[in-house]
Amino acid sequence: MGRYIIAGNWKLNKTPSEAGELAKALTEQTVGAGCEVVIAPSHVALARVAEVIRGSRIKLAAQNVSQHSEGAYTGETSVSMLKDLGVEYVILGHSERRQYYGETNQIINAKIKAVLAGGLKPILCIGELLEEREEGKAATVCRTQLEQSLAGISAADMAEIVIAYEPVWAIGTGKTASPEDANEIHVICREKLASLYSEELAGRVVIQYGGSVKPDNVRALMAKSDINGALVGGASLDAASFASLLRF
Ligand code: PEP
Repeated sequence: MGRYIIAGNWKLNKTPSEAGELAKALTEQTVGAGCEVVIAPSHVALARVAEVIRGSRIKLAAQNVSQHSEGAYTGETSVSMLKDLGVEYVILGHSERRQYYGETNQIINAKIKAVLAGGLKPILCIGELLEEREEGKAATVCRTQLEQSLAGISAADMAEIVIAYEPVWAIGTGKTASPEDANEIHVICREKLASLYSEELAGRVVIQYGGSVKPDNVRALMAKSDINGALVGGASLDAASFASLLRF
């Protein structure tokens, strides 16, 4: 599998000015061939970052979006607003959105449909909690999240979706799944996608790993058969560390 996407999720970090500076520093870095680079600043920094990365290989993502296209939804941002700013990807279903904002697979499904209808690409995050892994339920949880989040989505639309497998216990904790354990779930996700769509399509879907990916573990993770990139939190906030991930 020759295609990798490495995405940096900046979460609730960096003012627009700081985000512009980080993006500028990233445009000056070399990136490995065959590696697509995506950065996801906060909504208020998107316009500034879009300006800075114009003409570079870096693509822009948002960290969330409303499932509604317009209307009386105070505080929300629509797909067309993001598109107008030059956003190409939207991270959906991140465990922090599930945990702190009550996002269910059904809400995530509605958001995926809105993103696809607007011509943007979802990065769908899935992954099990620590208790679920300890109870041997990691595979079942991921299969259910895929099935419910992708309900009613056509094969043509599925080809636009990136999956990010992020075991929740590995996010921001410094604990990484071993490359073998991560790859095992990636294979299970691909099998699930093959059963929902086709083997051919499942083989083409980019499945990123996320959870404490750092310069010293990225290479071993990316070497695995079914891992096609990374969704990175902490290590994406510093230009040098993110750049070293991009050259794995
Ligand atoms: C994330 O937020 O998606 C993530 C994987 O964070 P970290 O790399 O900090 O674990």
